[in-house]
Amino acid sequence: MTITRRASRQLHVGPVAVGGDSPISVQSMTTTKTADVDGTLAQVYALSGAGADIVRITCNDVAAAQGLAEIVPRSPVPIIADIHFQYRLALASIEAGVAGLRLNPGNIRKEEHIKAVAKAAGDAGIPIRVGVNAGSLDKDLLAKYGAPVPEALVDSALHEIGYLEDVGFHDIKISVKHSHVPSMVESYRLLAERIDYPLHLGVTEAGPPPGGLIKSVAGIATLLLEGIGDTIRFSLTADPVEEAKAGRKLLEYLGLRERKSLDLIACPSCGRAEVDVIEVVREAEAALEAEGLPIQVAVMGCVVNGPGEAREADIGIAAGRGRGHLFIKGHVVRVVKEHDMVTALVDEARRLADEGVDARLAAADVTAADLAEEEALQLRSMRGDANRAEERRAAVADVASE
Ligand code: SF4
Repeated sequence: MTITRRASRQLHVGPVAVGGDSPISVQSMTTTKTADVDGTLAQVYALSGAGADIVRITCNDVAAAQGLAEIVPRSPVPIIADIHFQYRLALASIEAGVAGLRLNPGNIRKEEHIKAVAKAAGDAGIPIRVGVNAGSLDKDLLAKYGAPVPEALVDSALHEIGYLEDVGFHDIKISVKHSHVPSMVESYRLLAERIDYPLHLGVTEAGPPPGGLIKSVAGIATLLLEGIGDTIRFSLTADPVEEAKAGRKLLEYLGLRERKSLDLIACPSCGRAEVDVIEVVREAEAALEAEGLPIQVAVMGCVVNGPGEAREADIGIAAGRGRGHLFIKGHVVRVVKEHDMVTALVDEARRLADEGVDARLAAADVTAADLAEEEALQLRSMRGDANRAEERRAAVADVASE
């Protein structure tokens, strides 16, 4: 499937391009007190390591603005200052050197204040995100629409953009976040039809995982698959590192960013499983995550169906009777004892990343494929083929010959 992205303008958050044909970026936000410079920087580094391209930091008082002045030059990724009520803190953040601002203009009531911030941002050459949020919609709009419906969010966004455009400021990205997924999706769809500024996607106040993850994926992925969205943030009630990881993985799974992290596929297990699949997967995931290898790994609970179903994976292991069949691109390269399954998998994954597929296939144990086939046949005859291949072939032949 090819995703045709909505045509949007491009802007830059420091060195990170947002919009146009630039890669969709991942954002997250620190949870530390900004005045705690070392604590905040440690979290920024952790977020960057987990996949965040851009990090937002609150600037809610003068001490926070002063903290930003120390954090920005030491940060590995561009920093955006999050401003709510005090426009002077936006000006102070710009002075601190941030690469962008996020404003909720509904909270900065005075038009002249919004314009003063736009002027300063323009002079500094940094973008502003107009962050409209269903929970803090202007009271006049709430009165007009009766509820924070998608039309109200879009109305608010267009109104706030107008303030910025009035002073010739166009370095804008926009979010219209809602905690109700269908309303969030509809808000962005409506907005995408009206403007060509880059869009920052997110489901606001999504809550803790797993619910928060599900809501975020439902809203963000729906829009991304429609080509809408230029930068994303998962808003989870969790360690923000989880947000950054989730955002990065979502883009990788949708084929929108190059794989940089582990993609672990595993069967859900069933009565045919020859091992405790959940436990093996848990161990394998921990060990492989620690290696930081950007490969797709399969863990399958039985050899009857496992290798066939996971043949697209870079590497995988399927459980036989007390043994594990290790395969690369669907070819069995080694048969190992069950208690060595995870160690063998991680070891081979490391070699595969270093040496490549051809070299590792050439180094395969020549007896492994036959051994594996023999064992799979035995298990199939003992337990039957889950796909009932013979039975189905016979049924098809019967129908064809009638
Ligand atoms: S791979 Fe085997 S154990 Fe896993 S779900 Fe399929 S049939 Fe069941």
